[in-house]
Amino acid sequence: SEPLHIVGGGLAGSEAAWQAAERGVRVILHEMRPKVGTFAHRTGDFAEMVCSNSFRSDDDEQNAVGLLHWEMRQAGGLIMRMGDRHSLPAGGALAVDRDAFSAGVTEAIRSHPNISVVDEEVTDLPRVGHWIFATGPLTSPALASSIQAETGEGSLAFFDAIAPIVHAETIDMDVAWAQSRYDKGETEDDRTAYLNCPMTRDQYEAFIDALLSAEKTEFHEGETAGYFDGCLPIEVMAERGRETLRHGPMKPVGLTDAHNRDVKPYAVVQLRRDNKLGTLWNIVGFQTKMKYGAQTDVFRMIPGLENASFARLGGIHRNTFLNAPRLLDANLRLRSLPSVRFAGQVTGVEGYIESAAMGLLAGRLATAEMTGKALPTLPPTTAMGALLHHITGGADAKTFQPMNVNFGLFPPIDAKGGRRGRRERYKAYTDRAKADWLAWLDAPVLRAAE
Ligand code: FAD
Repeated sequence: SEPLHIVGGGLAGSEAAWQAAERGVRVILHEMRPKVGTFAHRTGDFAEMVCSNSFRSDDDEQNAVGLLHWEMRQAGGLIMRMGDRHSLPAGGALAVDRDAFSAGVTEAIRSHPNISVVDEEVTDLPRVGHWIFATGPLTSPALASSIQAETGEGSLAFFDAIAPIVHAETIDMDVAWAQSRYDKGETEDDRTAYLNCPMTRDQYEAFIDALLSAEKTEFHEGETAGYFDGCLPIEVMAERGRETLRHGPMKPVGLTDAHNRDVKPYAVVQLRRDNKLGTLWNIVGFQTKMKYGAQTDVFRMIPGLENASFARLGGIHRNTFLNAPRLLDANLRLRSLPSVRFAGQVTGVEGYIESAAMGLLAGRLATAEMTGKALPTLPPTTAMGALLHHITGGADAKTFQPMNVNFGLFPPIDAKGGRRGRRERYKAYTDRAKADWLAWLDAPVLRAAE
């Protein structure tokens, strides 16, 4: 029978290989390490964790990444199995002994009768066969060029510049107002795509002071080599002059404070709708290298965001990723070249677990396709489905940046009726997700429609 080729034995590629092999598919896994290295990997093992040793929260009732752990365990995931086997005590988080974990994944992959491993770098996108590319944030330059040649200019990014993202219900709308600059936009949707937070002169000066003194993280050694295209962190803009931000992302022009029409704000922070659901808003132009703790302190100084809860904080990292909403179909295949499927961080998810989750899905989707079956549509109410829907359609292709799993990606649960407290709401999300995920795993597999 035809094999499934998987390129990249990282968190995603290992999980994809496992899922397919366990379902009887013959897998050929191509991994370039240790022959060809990256600036972050140290070993030749599969599923090497390049930085922290944490899979983050393991709370499957109150946390979206904990829910993703649960879903992957239910699906017989290899990454979760090895994570659990080699876990270290870490409060509510799932931390793992990284070397034992990677050794465990490597052993499971290398000893699987359906998997063979080829130690080589793949540099081209093949036009025939079944392929999953799970080459990660540090995809080798030769392969990146081939992907770019196929997908076109601007379709593959080499850095993420992530502005912080705020949960809609935590923005104080007695202070903020909806308006696009100069009321631009064809439709009502366009004109309400921005929320504005006004600042007085004193507030602005205090904000600049806080930015300048906040703790920052450094780039990893070797990280900026090559492609850095100059997307400046806000604190660097502030360092260039106290007025720089007021003439840049915080300029107050073309906006009227709806709560205070007679007072012209000294500066304005804008948030842009980040998903179709309108549950997530990103702070425009606020990519930053501030440490996470500092970010929450500094951003809560913004009037209207005093009680903001963040779906994700800002950052700038070396990260190769596709403009997935534009390039990938709902089955993670390249629209222009369906022999090629992508998985992992390169699809525009962010994090070890999110990457492994997209590997799990890609492995199952490829298996179904190769055996002439079709999987039922993945419910967007599950953590896995919410992520998949976000990257392949829910997110705006024009401003696409990598995403962690979070409840803001889920269809709201209080569409009608009263508002619940946060704990109750998160519990309702996870209850709904678990029921829908189990139903999806058990659903009869359909024959693919030709
Ligand atoms: P990887 O795990 O990187 O796997 C990709 C594999 O493909 C690698 O083994 C690579 O050698 C191989 N490969 C690449 N190109 C080719 C080719 N052409 N041919 C053959 N093989 C190839 N996430 C977190 O949750 N926590 C963190 O602390 C964290 N820190 C990070 C730090 C850095 C410096 C980076 C770059 C990322 C970090 N991430 C972190 C993000 C992300 O979760 C991890 O990078 C994760 O490993 C992604 O999984 P993946 O399977 O998509 O990619």
